[in-house]
Amino acid sequence: LEKVHQELLASNVGEVLREEPLAGHTTMKIGGPADLFIIPNSIESVKKSIEIMNKYKQPWTVIGRGSNLLVLDKGIEGVVIKLDAGLNHIEINDGLVRIGAGYSIVRVATLLSRQGLSGFEFAAGIPGSIGGAVYMNAGAHHSDISNILKRAHILFLDGTTEWLNVEDLEFGYRTSILQKKRPGICLEAEFQLTHQSRVDIMAAMKKNKEYRKETQPFNYPCAGSIFRNPLPNYAGNLVERAGLKGYQIGGAKVSDLHGNFIVNVGGATAQDVLKLISFIQKTVLDTFGIEIQTEVEIIGKK
Ligand SMILES: Cc1cc2nc3c(=O)[nH]c(=O)nc-3n(C[C@H](O)[C@H](O)[C@H](O)COP(=O)(O)OP(=O)(O)OC[C@H]3O[C@@H](n4cnc5c(N)ncnc54)[C@H](O)[C@@H]3O)c2cc1C
Repeated sequence: LEKVHQELLASNVGEVLREEPLAGHTTMKIGGPADLFIIPNSIESVKKSIEIMNKYKQPWTVIGRGSNLLVLDKGIEGVVIKLDAGLNHIEINDGLVRIGAGYSIVRVATLLSRQGLSGFEFAAGIPGSIGGAVYMNAGAHHSDISNILKRAHILFLDGTTEWLNVEDLEFGYRTSILQKKRPGICLEAEFQLTHQSRVDIMAAMKKNKEYRKETQPFNYPCAGSIFRNPLPNYAGNLVERAGLKGYQIGGAKVSDLHGNFIVNVGGATAQDVLKLISFIQKTVLDTFGIEIQTEVEIIGKK
């Protein structure tokens, strides 16, 4: 790891930190340290970093804004690469918009609404990055990333890059080809948007945000929906009907407002959240015979 550290520093890939606590990089405010933590300053630096990882056979993990992550208390072994400010370019060419993977989708939605470009209204309240949103096919309000994406620039594990068209990314409900079949890092993405009245776009975003405020907790750290909806059922509804709203283990609590949100009411550990997740899964299975899977990604040393 020392050699990797030295070579990353010598290559000027960006910020390189040791033993960086990940609690500060997740919206749940939970998670132990990463042995090495990189915030690359450009696409080239991401490529260079992966080249170094491959040279030393060093395991690594990529994260965005940490809004769909439960990082375990012992932290993450090896290197964590956070795509952030170094990859937040945005180029608007009529309705075609190219955006860096580190860009916040909330900010993208606001910026494009002001330009009268429609398509990102659904994302106004999703606190992830463009890259994380492509990986997850993030969505809400009857739309998702696959509806507006044209193609994405992917760095594969062997260090090669390729632009994949929307059809090739095999998007489904909160899934993409990047999750299992063809893992890689989304470096940037191109979206096809349509021109519409700014007033209408902003009104739609306002409506979406207000709906969220009424139905989702805002006052505590969380990671959005913990479970995937076992469609046609909704996880939040099953949790509520099983009588688990407000149920608490340690500092982790099922939100009083939304059954599919676990909030950190103060000092929650990843262990608290894991115990609560298991308890909910067992209760929902015993009550309704339905297995619910996590949507939040659980990563780190067990
Ligand atoms: C309050 C709140 C509300 C939310 N509402 C919604 C919602 O309505 N709809 C919805 O879909 N989600 C929602 N989420 C969840 C979350 O915002 C999305 O899943 C988002 O897409 C995650 O992006 P991220 O950058 O935070 O990814 P992270 O949490 O950092 O990472 C999640 C996964 O994506 C991978 N990843 C991250 N960046 C990249 C990249 N550049 N290339 C390849 N893989 C990458 C990581 O390895 C990890 O496996 C919500 C979260 C919160 C906290």
